[in-house]
Formats: sequence, structure tokens, C-alpha cells
Amino acid sequence: MSVRLNSHLSDKQLNELRDRLMSEAERIRTNFQLKKHEYEHNSITGAKDEVDSANDNILLAADMRFSNRESLYYKKIMKTLSKVESDQYGMCDECGDPITYSRLIARPTSEMCILCKEESEREENQNFYERRSKSLGREMSVSGN
Ligand SMILES: [Zn+2]
Repeated sequence: MSVRLNSHLSDKQLNELRDRLMSEAERIRTNFQLKKHEYEHNSITGAKDEVDSANDNILLAADMRFSNRESLYYKKIMKTLSKVESDQYGMCDECGDPITYSRLIARPTSEMCILCKEESEREENQNFYERRSKSLGREMSVSGN
């Protein structure tokens, strides 16, 4: 038997994580179908007056923002599931270290280990400060090297 890349996860843990990812995907699919149905139903009955139709537009815009986020998340889940199938799941995209099971079970689509994640958040913060104060930003990146 060959050793999996993500051998820090047991078969049982991998199955558990796969189940979570699949039920998340299922939840989003169901949501989309409900929304689609709702929308089609509404456009058949039509708006009764202008106030209603303005409200509908606001709701629709909010819906689309929500759907956008959900569809990105859905894509991420699908990408993660394909990683599960190719035994590449659970490894950090940044440093290649194993991502702990406790982190994965809390957020099954995690692509970075906690250290790299913290590092990338620090960099984001640093960029934020660099924008606010250029000289301080330079000093920080010099000391960081
Ligand atoms: Zn890492």
C-alpha cells in the first residue's frame, strides 16, 4: 500500500471531511434551486406596483451578491473535493505542511496551515499600514527580510 501525501489524516477523518464538503455542496445546490424557483415564480406573477418592484430589485441585488459569494464558495468546495480524490487534500498550498484535522474540520476548505494563514494575514495588515505610512512600511519590510 502506498503512503498518501496526506497521511496525517486517517481514512475515517478523510471520509468525515469529504462528507462535510459534499453536504455543503448539496446545501448550496438546494439553495440555488429554491432561489431560481422563487425568482421564476415572481417574474410570472409580476410586480403589482412600483413600490413592490423597487423592493424586488433591492432583494434581487442582495440575492445576486449572496449568490455570487455562494457560487465562489461552491467552486472552492468542488476544487477541494477534487483534491480529496487525488489525495492532495489537507496539505498547505504555501509550505506543503500538513494542515491539522482540527483546523480542517472547523473549515474544510482551508488551503493553508495556520502559520501560513497568519503570515498572509500579517502581510495584508502590513500592506494596509504601508498605504497609510510609506516610511513605516519600508522599515517594516526591511526588518522582515
Ligand atoms: Zn503552511
